Parts: sequence; structure tokens; C-alpha cells
Amino acid sequence: MYERAATAIIAPSVPSLRSHPPRTSSAESAPRVSSRGQRQQATALASTWVGCSATVLALAFTVRPVRVSEAVFWMLVAVAAGALMAGASATVRARGCKGPTIPGQNARPHTSTGAPDRGQPLGRRRSDSLRAMIYDDDADLHLLDGKTVAIIGYGSQGHAHALNLEDSGVSVVVGLREDSASAPKAREQGLEVLSVVEASSRGDLVMVLLPDELHRQVWEAEIRDGISDGNMLLFGHGFSIHYREVEPPAGVDVAMVAPKGPGHLVRRQFTEGSGVPGLIAVAQDATGHARSLALAYAKGIGCTRGGVIETTFKDETETDLFGEQAVLCGGASELVQAGFETLVNAGYDPEMAYFECLHELKLIADLMYEKGLAGMRYSISNTAEYGDYTRGKRVITEQTRENMRKILAEIQSGDFAREWIAENRAGQESFKRMRAEQADTQVEHVGAELRSHMDWIKPSF
Ligand code: NAP
Ligand code: MG
Repeated sequence: MYERAATAIIAPSVPSLRSHPPRTSSAESAPRVSSRGQRQQATALASTWVGCSATVLALAFTVRPVRVSEAVFWMLVAVAAGALMAGASATVRARGCKGPTIPGQNARPHTSTGAPDRGQPLGRRRSDSLRAMIYDDDADLHLLDGKTVAIIGYGSQGHAHALNLEDSGVSVVVGLREDSASAPKAREQGLEVLSVVEASSRGDLVMVLLPDELHRQVWEAEIRDGISDGNMLLFGHGFSIHYREVEPPAGVDVAMVAPKGPGHLVRRQFTEGSGVPGLIAVAQDATGHARSLALAYAKGIGCTRGGVIETTFKDETETDLFGEQAVLCGGASELVQAGFETLVNAGYDPEMAYFECLHELKLIADLMYEKGLAGMRYSISNTAEYGDYTRGKRVITEQTRENMRKILAEIQSGDFAREWIAENRAGQESFKRMRAEQADTQVEHVGAELRSHMDWIKPSF
């Protein structure tokens, strides 16, 4: 038993924006955050300077007698120099972020290519005050006036982007294969459905929302010929551009708009008046308008309501792959599986093991999501908290961290991408085998049975 209180754990299973209400203007918020950070840094620097000077003077007193007027004079000089240094340091910091800025927003790093970001050392710590968020007022939806957006694919992300843009007043067509099961659904929802070839040539902006492993094949056979100079090619994830699966011609803008949430939530939150936050990146800016167009698109699907961060294709791809492999999917699934099997192999009830290692994980994750790690630990019992501090590191050991670093290195070197691309070219044989094996484990069977008695859990997607 770990719960101290049952309150606060009945939280939505989906990301909510409660802790980040949509803002109307970054012009109001971002600069305030930034200047407060700079003031704090300046104050800290000045205090350190004064403290050091006072210590030096005190030492000087012990070496030779100093007149009071002389001491006061040097103190005043030290204070003045400290204030000047702190002011200069804050100014340098504010000016240190080069590159274009959005009107109404403070200066911040702007990277416009997907090229490796060598300027920033590995393990750097970004100051929150420098990471400005982009909100609705920083994006101009009218940039899409008179343009047609072609959405290729109508799956998790595709349906959400198409419907949200249509509701935002943007002209949308959907591109699908001939025998597509999604075509009737898209038509029912009031959208014009064309072949992938037709949609790609009709779109001034073409958003590729097909499974990543199919991008190369569909790009080469059905999209590439429809893209003219001055058009914009968009992606919802950086994989195929970063690993050069798709190599667009030089006259085309290439950007990414990646909502940080599943497609069904991108749609649901938009209709509820909120929005899933997102990332944007520009890999190729042929027209000089790629960034503002990508932001207009992000606004059209609701991302600027939740807040958009500008990044590179490289950083989005590598962090996304690392997160899903080491923590969210690979790490979490294997942790659950190992915990479940440890209890069952020791003779405990599989049902109890399921509740302990899988079901309750959601409740703990909800607490982390809403309150952070310390907030989660506040809600659990002291016994659970002590076990957490003393036993957690025996599960995630230095060896585990070393493996995480190796996994990251395989992503950065492109080894993982090459492996996954080869797997697809070979017909996904081992992928499909692993999928079948993992769906047939004891924890899955026990879980399906237990969940069938929980009316509030929907079994279908
Ligand atoms: P998905 O749900 O698997 O949807 C795939 C769509 O592509 C379906 O409409 C499918 O059409 C269509 N399709 C499949 N093969 C095709 C082909 N050969 N020709 C034409 N259409 C084809 O994909 P997704 O998960 O939305 O992912 C799309 C992109 O968004 C990916 O780049 C992914 O990394 C990115 N992304 C996804 C999420 C997410 O929430 N899933 C989150 C962030 C980013 P049919 O209906 O005909 O099968
Ligand atoms: Mg992801």
C-alpha cells in the first residue's frame, strides 16, 4: 500500500492543459519571465561581488591598519563595479541569443536547419528564461488565405490536422490510396478526398502524415512529382528528413509541425477550445517564409493555444526516439513485464501482480504528470517513499544508464534508423513476430480479463 490519500489520483488519463492555460499573448508573458530571470542573475552576481570585496577588505585590515574613510571609499568602488558588471552581464546574456525574433517576443536561439547543432555542448542546461514559448498571437493564420493544404494520410494525426484546419477556415484536401479504408470516413466528415498524386499537386502546403517507414516509398512514387518550387513540404515528425529518407528539391520549403500528443487528442482538445502543444522546425527555407507559414499551420491545428517550441529536425527526432525507446515505451513496458514476472515467479497471484505492476502505474504516472516527482512522493506513504529512494537505484543502475547512453548513441549515429529501415525493406518479419509474441504474454491475458470488468475503460480505440 502506498497511498497516503486517495484524493488527487483520480486524474484524467490524457494530457490536460490545466497547469498551462492557453495564453493570449507571449508579448505579455515571455518577456516578463525573461527579464525577471536576468534581474535575479544580476542581483546574485552583484551580491557575490560585494561579499567578496568585503572579505578582501576584512583580510586587508588584519594585514595593516586601514583608515575608516579609506575602507568606505574602497567599499563604494567595489559596489559600483559589482553593479556595472551585473548590468553588463545581463545585457550580454539578452543579446547573446542571435537570430530573427518574432514580434512581441524576447530574443532567443533560432535554428533554421536540421543540421547538427554543434554550437551547444552535450548536456547543456538551458535556462527556462531563454526558452520562449510561441502562442496564438505570434502566428498569423491569414498567411494560409488562398492556399490549399493537402493532408496525406487520414490516420491518428491526419484526421486531426485535416479537421482542425478546416474548422480554422483553411482550404483542405486529403490524399489517400485507392482502396483506403479511411476515405469514406474523411468524406463523411465533409472533406474532399483525392489520390495521393492529385492531392500532392493540388496542395500549396503538403503535410505527410503517413507511417514514417512508408515516407520514402510514397514520396518517390506519388508525392515528389506534385511538389513545385515555392510549395511547402511538411512533416509531423523529423525521422525521414533527418535520416535522409526523403530528399526534397532545393526550391521547396521543408518544415515540421509536430503536436506533442496523440492525434485523437489533437482533435479532441481543439474542439474543446484548448490545444495540444507542439514543436516546429524549419529544415529548408526556400521562400524566406517557411517559419511563419509553419507557425500559421501550427495555429490552424490548435498547437499555438497550448504553446509551440521551435527546434530542429535533429533534436526533435533524436529526443523523440530516445524517449520512446528508453523511457516511455521500451523502458516502461519492460519494467512492467519484469516486475510482473518477478512476483508471479515467486508464487504470487497474477491478478495481484497485474494491479501492482501495471494498473497502478497509471495512478502514479498521473501524479507525476500533475505534480512532478516530489509531488508524487508527497502523496505516497513514507514507507513507499523510503523504498523509492533506497531501492530505485538498484533497478535503474549505472549499467542501465550506460545502456541508455548507448541507445542514444545508436540514435545519434543513425544505426537505429538504418536497422528500422532495413527491417521494413525485409517486410517487417521480426517486427511482426515480436508484436505477436508480446501480445501473447501472461500479463496481457490477465489484464484483458481484469479490464473487461472495468466499465469505465474503453477496450477499443
Ligand atoms: P497512422 O495513424 O498509422 O495513419 C496512417 C495513414 O496513412 C492512414 O490514413 C493510412 O491510410 C495511410 N497510409 C498507409 N499506407 C499508405 C500508403 N501506402 N499510401 C497512402 N496512404 C497510406 O499514422 P500516424 O500515427 O498518424 O503517423 C503519421 C505521422 O505523424 C508519422 O510521421 C508519425 O511519426 C507522426 N506522429 C504521430 C503521432 C501519433 O499520435 N500517432 C504523434 C506525433 C507524430 P488507410 O486508412 O488507407 O490505411
Ligand atoms: Mg513520440
